[in-house]
Amino acid sequence: MKTPASDLHDLATQRPDSLDAYWMPFTANRQYKGAPRMLVRAEGMHYEDVDGRAILDGTAGLWCCNAGHARRRIVDAIAEQAATLDYSPAFQMGSPPAFALAQRLAALAPAGLNHVFFTSSGSEAVDSAMKIVLAHHRLRGEGQRTRFISREKAYHGVGFGGMALGGLPNNRRQFGLQLGGVDYLRHTLDLSRNAFSKGLPRQGAELADDLERLIALHDPSTIAAVFVEPIAGSAGVILPAPGYLQRLREICDQHGILLVFDEVITGFGRVGMAFAAQRFGVTPDLLTFAKGASNGAVPLGGVLVGDSVHASFMQGPPQAIELFHGYTYSGHPLACAAALATLDIYAEERLFERAIELGEYWQERLHALQGLPNVIDIRNFGLVGAVELAPRKDAPGSRGYEVFRRCFHDGRLLVRCTGDIIALSPPLIVDKAQIDQITGTLGEMIRATA
Ligand code: PLP
Repeated sequence: MKTPASDLHDLATQRPDSLDAYWMPFTANRQYKGAPRMLVRAEGMHYEDVDGRAILDGTAGLWCCNAGHARRRIVDAIAEQAATLDYSPAFQMGSPPAFALAQRLAALAPAGLNHVFFTSSGSEAVDSAMKIVLAHHRLRGEGQRTRFISREKAYHGVGFGGMALGGLPNNRRQFGLQLGGVDYLRHTLDLSRNAFSKGLPRQGAELADDLERLIALHDPSTIAAVFVEPIAGSAGVILPAPGYLQRLREICDQHGILLVFDEVITGFGRVGMAFAAQRFGVTPDLLTFAKGASNGAVPLGGVLVGDSVHASFMQGPPQAIELFHGYTYSGHPLACAAALATLDIYAEERLFERAIELGEYWQERLHALQGLPNVIDIRNFGLVGAVELAPRKDAPGSRGYEVFRRCFHDGRLLVRCTGDIIALSPPLIVDKAQIDQITGTLGEMIRATA
């Protein structure tokens, strides 16, 4: 039975300590619980909050509901699967949805990435990819390749592997202990050269040569892989200059280093094709995904693995387990059924193409915010965007949070703030009127905050 909205309303309006039991992730718990934002329902482009207000979703949930919310086809697929086969053990056992989905994903992926290892989240996908990389090198007699290169400002989830690859200081410094052997490329955000670029930044392809510096420093034969987000999402939509990713690919190839794209955010149409790898014309050796794979409806992630990496695991006796790694929920039937229905919607409604068709309008409306108080940069590509605000000297992050808060409470719009950057990634079903509403409301709230 559904919890009636009136009970939820009571919960939301009770004293903060009544909400205390739930320790919320990446949240200022005490601040939130003093003025909770409670979502109770969702459909299409909108959430509904506990007061019955429709909230326009400017972020596809958390970059994941690319087909919009509560899509009937996905709901039915989950319900039917739950009633047919709710769970199948993941080890030495399988179920048709997992095999069917792996096949569909391999067909969608860049050529050569034909094997899928399933997880339940992006963090698990990243840690799985790191382990596959390490095991691959050992199988090939190159066990000295244990070092990873990632990038400043990167976000690769919250596992110990992903945290070590991550380059956002707040996500690391609280914990002290880190996996060793990781070094960091320079990030590609350069407001002095590229502020208010429309689409990809004009300059910065040469930043990929920073990889040469790290290779010289560490000796290429010790480096296992380079991990990058083609577009760094959580850091505030940091885009690569044309040629940057190609250059990383070339340098990796010269030195036998694997290239891994973390496409947890950029996958499934966000930039106009199934994966950013295809939009940028660069094929990695492994590719991590999550979020949009199942439209956020049931947790699902995974690693797409290239043929040659996969082949190195398939050399031993056939009765030997090839990879001592996996999760109870790898290939979960409900998640895979949700993802199969999601991929049907993406294809039938041509939602990936829509991110290109609407891209120009999105760019135009977003860049109309240039000139508003404190706006120091606007970035866009496909159907992703960011508006960067100048931080208050005494309280960095407070301006972004205030805009986010006002958008929700006063503007009935969900945006995401990461520090003083407002990130936008609407469901790909968004229309032009809703783009006007997103950018119009955001502009109003930026003015109100100034
Ligand atoms: N990698 C990237 C690029 C992400 O953006 C995220 C989450 O936002 C993750 C990994 C972690 O995914 P999850 O939160 O599903 O563990």
